Amino acid sequence: MTINDLVSKIKENDPKADTSLVELAYDFAAKAHEGQTRSTGEPYINHPLATAGILAEMNLGAPLIVAALLHDVPEDTAVTLEELEKNFGADVAEMVRGITKLGKIKYRGIERYIENLRKMFLAMASDLRVLFIKFADRLHNLQTLEALPPKKQYRIALETLEIFAPIANRLGMGEMRAQLEDLSFKYVYPEEYQWTVKIFEEAAPPKEAYLEQVKKILAGELAVHGVKEVEMSGRRKHLYSLYKKLLKYDRDISRIHDLIALRIIVPTVADCYSVLGVIHGLWKPLKGRIKDYIAQPKPNGYRSLHTTVFCEDGEVVEFQIRTRDMHEEAEIGIAAHWHYDESGKRAELPQHAKWVQELARIQKEISEKKEFLEALETLKIDIFRNRIFVFTPRGDVIDLPEEATPIDLAYAIHSDIGNSCIGAMVNDEIVPLDSPLRSGDVVYILTDKNRKTPSADWLKFVKTRQAKNKIKAALREQHVGWFKTLLKQNKK
Ligand code: MN
Repeated sequence: MTINDLVSKIKENDPKADTSLVELAYDFAAKAHEGQTRSTGEPYINHPLATAGILAEMNLGAPLIVAALLHDVPEDTAVTLEELEKNFGADVAEMVRGITKLGKIKYRGIERYIENLRKMFLAMASDLRVLFIKFADRLHNLQTLEALPPKKQYRIALETLEIFAPIANRLGMGEMRAQLEDLSFKYVYPEEYQWTVKIFEEAAPPKEAYLEQVKKILAGELAVHGVKEVEMSGRRKHLYSLYKKLLKYDRDISRIHDLIALRIIVPTVADCYSVLGVIHGLWKPLKGRIKDYIAQPKPNGYRSLHTTVFCEDGEVVEFQIRTRDMHEEAEIGIAAHWHYDESGKRAELPQHAKWVQELARIQKEISEKKEFLEALETLKIDIFRNRIFVFTPRGDVIDLPEEATPIDLAYAIHSDIGNSCIGAMVNDEIVPLDSPLRSGDVVYILTDKNRKTPSADWLKFVKTRQAKNKIKAALREQHVGWFKTLLKQNKK
């Protein structure tokens, strides 16, 4: 990648974009890093340039690309943040400051993990763009990891698998997550990586040849039904997710049906359903494998129609059908909502990403580092767990972490409901209060208005930070109450 490649990439996405600041930032960074080389032996500037290139590929605005070009300047050169601010403005300087802060971690082992996680959450809460730059920076570092000593390779790759990839996933950045994982996989589990590559390389080519035939049949049928402008391609499953799936299926590749899926991109939502209809007219779908993530998007915002069918000669094939917009969101997730914001600043977030704002609020609440570390355990669980959606009898939808219980739901509705909860009905049946809820459950919380305090036992199974804190607060109040009565009695 050269600066000209970068500029033409930006222009390709937005012909009206003003790239003069980008070019200026490149010259500035190239001068600052002059004479420095990376461990690969190349000039240092290649790294910020590649980082900026990854972000341009994601069609993110010019201020972010400027910040990416400058991201290592204050850390590695004599140029200060103040000088950056003078030349490129406060917004760019603020982003670079954020990335510089993320970079400095001196701890080892578990301490390092916690500190890292804390910093990532802080960055996420204050400006998501900093995180996007950090992801791109990490991605390029992984692409050139070969040049580092093995110990460092392992540490960086492991940190990517444990921290960066789950956060990218939570933000719906599917392509980023997959690339981070696949590049790290090789260094963290080298033998498992070789094994996965080997079985993939054996199984994939015949499947690809077969899918060429399927594509032709489907294309013909779609034309007959008047579905136009169809883009069809075979999507190879990413290695790390294939590996994880293989572990789940006794390492038996014949049980994995989406090794290569056929991805179909059409202009409108209506076209998506037409394509689904045509596919089901041609081939019989497998029971329980039709997934309408358009009507019910995944908690991270992913939308598509999925179906798995008994295809030609009884082979099992998965199809994924989506529009261009859905495709973009599936690849870059939350970053898709940055494009059209003129200033490049945080745009209004879609419903499924509101938790990022919640995170910002929590972070403000817990400004003390020590407290933050204490809260981290529960916070981490809230964020890294997948989300489920359950319904109240009135039809309200409540978003909870996976395995949340009726008590978590009760506290999500209101602390009074939580404190006076005496039972729960899930889909019209009485269940124990510690039963894990599932997406789509209709949950009715039974309360008793005479009950004012929760049971301390609930702390053993609740999953959300909110429920935990509210139970503790109510118990504390109760104890204070007892104590006061006791004092009064003693006075008498
Ligand atoms: Mn860097």
